[in-house]
Amino acid sequence: MKKDNKLKISFIGGNSYDVTGSMILVEWNKRKILLDCGLIQGGTTLQDYRDNKNMLTKNKLKNIEYVIVGERHIDHIGNIPYITKTNYDCKVITPAKTKKIFKHMLEDSANIADRDCEMLAKKYKDKVFIPSYTIEDVEHCINQIQELTVGEKIKIDDDITIKFSYSGHIFGACQTELWINVNGKIKHFLYTADLGNILNYKNRPFTEELDRVNNATIVISESTYGKLDKFVCTEKVIEKDIEKLYSTIEQYTIDKKNRVLIPTFSLDRTPAMLYLIWKKYKDDERFKDVKVIIDSPLSNKLLDVYINELDDEKAELLQEILSWDNIIRVSASEESKYVMENYKNCVVVASSGMCSQGRSKIWLTKILPNANDCLLFSGYCADNTLGGKIKNNKQKYITIDGKNYPNRCNIVNIQGQSSHMQRNELIKYLSSINCEKIYLVHGSTQARIDLAQSLKEKLSEESKTTKVSIVTKGTTCNF
Ligand SMILES: [Zn+2]
Repeated sequence: MKKDNKLKISFIGGNSYDVTGSMILVEWNKRKILLDCGLIQGGTTLQDYRDNKNMLTKNKLKNIEYVIVGERHIDHIGNIPYITKTNYDCKVITPAKTKKIFKHMLEDSANIADRDCEMLAKKYKDKVFIPSYTIEDVEHCINQIQELTVGEKIKIDDDITIKFSYSGHIFGACQTELWINVNGKIKHFLYTADLGNILNYKNRPFTEELDRVNNATIVISESTYGKLDKFVCTEKVIEKDIEKLYSTIEQYTIDKKNRVLIPTFSLDRTPAMLYLIWKKYKDDERFKDVKVIIDSPLSNKLLDVYINELDDEKAELLQEILSWDNIIRVSASEESKYVMENYKNCVVVASSGMCSQGRSKIWLTKILPNANDCLLFSGYCADNTLGGKIKNNKQKYITIDGKNYPNRCNIVNIQGQSSHMQRNELIKYLSSINCEKIYLVHGSTQARIDLAQSLKEKLSEESKTTKVSIVTKGTTCNF
């Protein structure tokens, strides 16, 4: 009988049409592996619940042998415990120094899903809402993790060889190269996952620099910032943004003795933001009485993991920042209530970054009504999230958990601090890889279209024959 030499890649996740819910299915000879298995986020709680349920139940996710994942953000990892629950022996292959981070991230995600389901059940009494996995499922998932050394080509079984290379995106996050043996033919492809903002290394000292991959047969790349936009992020823009961050902090704390709330993602963004604040004000006498409050149980757990996992020099730097007299680390909710009532001259770094969950949402109820305080957004907020609603429209009142709060505080946006690779750098990097075809995922429709167009132009300028394809929901490729 003739053996099938094809490898099939199916784009079945939310990243086939937008920026969350990363999941790609790879199949050959009745074998199945997943690249990423992330949470769909950014819609309403009900929408996200339904979209995640559909993604997990309408795709054929039985007999998965491995989930291979180089990234750490929840939109790439948030559904893995469901896979290890429903495919009990499935292994999770990750770069080194992942286990402890996954544990905290996924436990947090399980708790949020629990609360969301409870909330939905109260609201829609005739319907049943069940989280995709529990804390016990997270424990099993963590036990299934096999960490690989970054930068080494490692054979994990007879047919599969993997190499993780740093993506420059966040601490420890990697691109994945795979060599799969399909009946004696080796198929080599690269999945970039999220690529890092290489223009901003000096302000993100805890993230490794990008390892450039030079060749693969097929490349699957993210395209988050692929859109042709009036806003072009350059090193100059990043510097200006940081000046704006500092002038805002100084205006509201040193000058007016009030509060600045900075909603910040726990993973990577919190240590990067602390670094920027510490670097500027550690020896500044004027800042002596200003407290820097890290209010987030998850951020504090992850900061402790970072201290253990970072290389010596970087760990020392982070330790020095956290030992700064001005810093107050808050985890317990009673402590959080206490600092909310008692500290009036402070910078609050609280998660989540989009204010849809966690302490940043509670802080908003205190900061929003106060005309002397300031809310500073330093990252992306999806339109449907609380952060997105505040950022994009100036409404008189903001509803948080069913209660209206007057929207009186000052709102400042800075936009150059993203940890994603910017458009021009994406074009340069992707066009530099020798390959047959590039598939674009993980971007809005417009971002994928615009990036494909520019990439084609650049490749043709360089007389390269590489093809570029936009992935949509259900795209498959055989090679
Ligand atoms: Zn990411």
